[in-house]
Amino acid sequence: MAKQPRPVHQLTSAQFDRMFPVGDEDACKAYLVARRWPNGVACPRCGNAAVYDLPSRKWHWQCERCATDGYRFSVTVGTIFENTNKPLRDWYKLVHLMMTSKKGISARQMGRYMGFGSVKTAWLMAHKIRTALIEPETKLGGIVEVDETFIGGKKKNQHWDKRVPGRGHTGKIPVAGAVSRKGNVVARVVRDVRTETLVKFVREMVSNKVSLLCTDDAAAYRDLKAEYPHGSVDHKRRQYVVGAVHTNTIEGFWSIFKRGIVGTFHKVSAKYLPLYVAEFQFRYNNRHNDDIFGAAIEGC
Ligand SMILES: [Zn+2]
Repeated sequence: MAKQPRPVHQLTSAQFDRMFPVGDEDACKAYLVARRWPNGVACPRCGNAAVYDLPSRKWHWQCERCATDGYRFSVTVGTIFENTNKPLRDWYKLVHLMMTSKKGISARQMGRYMGFGSVKTAWLMAHKIRTALIEPETKLGGIVEVDETFIGGKKKNQHWDKRVPGRGHTGKIPVAGAVSRKGNVVARVVRDVRTETLVKFVREMVSNKVSLLCTDDAAAYRDLKAEYPHGSVDHKRRQYVVGAVHTNTIEGFWSIFKRGIVGTFHKVSAKYLPLYVAEFQFRYNNRHNDDIFGAAIEGC
């Protein structure tokens, strides 16, 4: 297997415009149908594949299995686009912007770019998209690095402290992360960085069949030695790489995440931090996926 991942060219702006011409909602709806129902339209309630096109309403179908008088549904039912008053193309454009910006894109920037009257509109839409990017949990294997970091704590961010009681005086929010080298990352906002919290995180996110679990020398991880093949580096002693043991990959993820949060979003409240974590995790895990846009729409 080649060591370097092949370069991926994701959807360009010009390609986007060709796929979804301005004002062409049908193109967007056809794309959504193909993504939601790759094997043909099925009833979102009961899974019935023998649904009927509603001749009177485009992009609507009827299922006669799960309701006596027929259940009617549209292409957007059950998606984040349901009941929206914005064109699907606007949503797609936002998804595309988010997927192509490594450090994320602020609501203010999105609002300006899209010509929305208010920042709030872009902010609400972006948060809906972020909820769609939350990935199902699967346990990591191979060589896995685990580390934790803190977000916030600067004077300008002190409102975090007030909104989330019990985080101490610093206002810093701990985030735990695990990454499979050359594979996926999982990150979660955690209550604290006590041993029981971090050990629980590792047990939930990392398979105990890993070939190696790498951490720094934090006391919290020492309890894992009995369950995992565990190696640690002592950063306090300026030890960073010992054989295969290092935490450079997860630290690389933290650096992208922090540059994004600090540089782009400035005032992320603790309440919404998990959504930003989901966004950065999704982008990282699809970094070699040239159809990252389609993967994102699939989750919507
Ligand atoms: Zn049905």
